[in-house]
Amino acid sequence: MSQYDYLVVGAGLFGAVFAHEAALKGKKVKVIEKRDHIAGNIYTQESEGIQVHRYGAHIFHTSDKEVWEYVNQFAEFNHYINSPIANYKGEIYNLPFNMNTFNKLWGVVTPAEAQAKIEEQRSVFGDKKPENLEEQAISLVGTDIYEKLIKDYTEKQWGKSTKELPAFIIRRLPVRFTYDNNYFNDTYQGIPIGGYTQIVEKMLDHANIDVETGVDFFADREQYLADFPKIVFTGMIDQYFDYQLGTLEYRSLRFETEKLDMKNYQGNAVVNYTDDQTPYTRIIEHKHFEFGTQDKTIITKEHSKTWTKGDEPYYPVNNDRNNRLYKAYKQLADQQDKVIFGGRLGQYRYYDMHQVIVAALQCVRTEVK
Ligand code: FAD
Ligand code: UDP
Repeated sequence: MSQYDYLVVGAGLFGAVFAHEAALKGKKVKVIEKRDHIAGNIYTQESEGIQVHRYGAHIFHTSDKEVWEYVNQFAEFNHYINSPIANYKGEIYNLPFNMNTFNKLWGVVTPAEAQAKIEEQRSVFGDKKPENLEEQAISLVGTDIYEKLIKDYTEKQWGKSTKELPAFIIRRLPVRFTYDNNYFNDTYQGIPIGGYTQIVEKMLDHANIDVETGVDFFADREQYLADFPKIVFTGMIDQYFDYQLGTLEYRSLRFETEKLDMKNYQGNAVVNYTDDQTPYTRIIEHKHFEFGTQDKTIITKEHSKTWTKGDEPYYPVNNDRNNRLYKAYKQLADQQDKVIFGGRLGQYRYYDMHQVIVAALQCVRTEVK
């Protein structure tokens, strides 16, 4: 048996919060991470004085004061408010769907006019409960917005027809009858000044925590299981069980990053390409998350792709088939008590950062006595 109380597999946000809190409670924790750096998908790296979000744009947002105060222990946040725009064949629309979007699309000026327009377009469904993403989208914003801003973007992002996708995915986005371009409804929002990596660095900087990067749990799994009294696993739950019940679906991404010799490429941090011809879903211009004034700029084109074994599994695909399979894996997980499964991959949930923090704090409360 090792000197440690816990092995944490994965130095992402879930693993880091768990390790930090367990260490504060006097536990000895070893963290292993298969990538060559800590921080998982929230990893940021400075280049040209700009914090580059290596695994896609990350905006912290929450309405939970406790979570906001928790994360503010590890970084100071700026006042960035996410207001992405959509580019549909050269036409620019504000997101999320709000009076600016409706005005540009239909020329309507008042909320009542916008509501009447949507009501007319959604009447194709009557009062039927939306059963998939397509029905949900049309029922929320009508057919015009669905066709220009949702259908092709969603099919590029998920590689599936909107008819095969769950309705909840589109409900992540607010629909507002005010002229408000804030992508989130949450009370607190911002980007950590100096990037996200420092947050995880500070969480893991404790005498009771040892961290090793470039180490894959599966390279020595039996030894880890023998050596550690408890393991917190934040990798893919189906991989942990050798895919014995079947393979869960994930969506992977390819990031194409370029440094450009200009101050301002697109005038906004996030531009979504909502047509079906542009091969990527969005372009991130990192400096705008922190109001950067550098002479150069760095942009990342985000291409969505089918996940196959060996790719990074960025998104769980929470449709009925996968949720059922996940439940079966969860039953296997519940039949043993050595390994706790946490995070986006361990719990197969489309978690945002604030939700991961809540889940990890809850896990510590129940697990660490
Ligand atoms: P991860 O960050 O994936 O960490 C898991 C870690 O485990 C990884 O580092 C992985 O390498 C490691 N690992 C896996 N298997 C093994 C193994 N076998 N051995 C060793 N190590 C292993 N959230 C927001 O709140 N706001 C946003 O704007 C936002 N934007 C996002 C954009 C994109 C493109 C993506 C993909 C996610 C976004 N998120 C956002 C979600 C956010 O990234 C997650 O909620 C959070 O990072 C999940 O943390 P985690 O610890 O569960 O997972
Ligand atoms: N979406 C869309 N058009 C957009 C932006 C988002 O149709 O311009 C849909 C799409 O289905 C996407 C979902 O809304 O998967 C959730 O968007 P979000 O920005 O929350 O996705 P994430 O940042 O997690 O990729």
